[in-house]
Amino acid sequence: MKNIKDYNLEELKEQLKLLEEKPFRAEQIFKWLYVDKVKSFDEMTNLSLELRKKLALNFDICNYTIVKKLESVDGTKKYLFGLSDGNAIESVLMEYHFGKSVCVSSQIGCKMGCKFCASTGIPFIRNLTSGEIVEQILAIEQDTDLKVSNVVFMGIGEPFDNYDNVINAIKILNNPKGLNIGARHISVSTSGIVPKIYEFADADMQCTLSVSLHSANNQVRSSMMPVNSAYNIQELIQACKYYINKTNKRISFEYALAKDNNDNLKDADELIKLLKGMLCHVNLIPINKIENGKYTKSSLENIMKFRDYLNNARYSCNN
Ligand code: SF4
Repeated sequence: MKNIKDYNLEELKEQLKLLEEKPFRAEQIFKWLYVDKVKSFDEMTNLSLELRKKLALNFDICNYTIVKKLESVDGTKKYLFGLSDGNAIESVLMEYHFGKSVCVSSQIGCKMGCKFCASTGIPFIRNLTSGEIVEQILAIEQDTDLKVSNVVFMGIGEPFDNYDNVINAIKILNNPKGLNIGARHISVSTSGIVPKIYEFADADMQCTLSVSLHSANNQVRSSMMPVNSAYNIQELIQACKYYINKTNKRISFEYALAKDNNDNLKDADELIKLLKGMLCHVNLIPINKIENGKYTKSSLENIMKFRDYLNNARYSCNN
């Protein structure tokens, strides 16, 4: 049986029509699921008993169990959720001055094999459904009694390798009758699946797009990210320019600095030339050494030099 949270509001209306029910019932169900956050059809008390039975016969309601929860000193909470098929996924709640942000996973495991990523050792099992993506936010809201204001697709998985389910999850998250998280508060991060960047630009979802770049040099980037062998930097930048022209939105380029790999001023210079004239931001991240990984964190001095070099060339960057 399909999880009722896999349907966006329009799809749910169609499902109700198939059950010979009035489509407006979908809005009532949406409210029960995403505003009242009930866990069973029985709790949807403004629906007739007959309809509640019909729903239970035709749909599941996915509810997660918390397998593990870790809280760090800065208040960040890391959740491991148990899924109905026995798999588990990770989500992270971060509290910022601007609101509560959840970093969601989009797949169980990941195929992309980025050499600096701790998830690389986790074999790909399957895509998450839209409902399983949305449930991460719901389960965290239920656990903390907080309202999540921002969602970032930066957890385990490549969101554009599960494109349709991610787009549908955004429609559910974004619906004012559901979780009502503004599209501008939803950020999708890709390792650089070029055809999907074009598709995402054409879909005009109004979300923020982050692209993991990490080097302006094909040789260096290919050694860090196998996806670069399929779609090289020039193809990636062309797609990003299309996205910016089409949406008039700024792209955030992620750049993880690894010692003696991509962190010297020659690398910064190549980056400046590559991004020349683009509406973008560079997000510098000190790389975290992973078990058996070859990359180590850049020195603070190198990070500052790199940042200052970009800032002097009038590039917007953090850190
Ligand atoms: S795409 Fe993301 S999750 Fe997958 S290996 Fe690369 S960094 Fe890790």
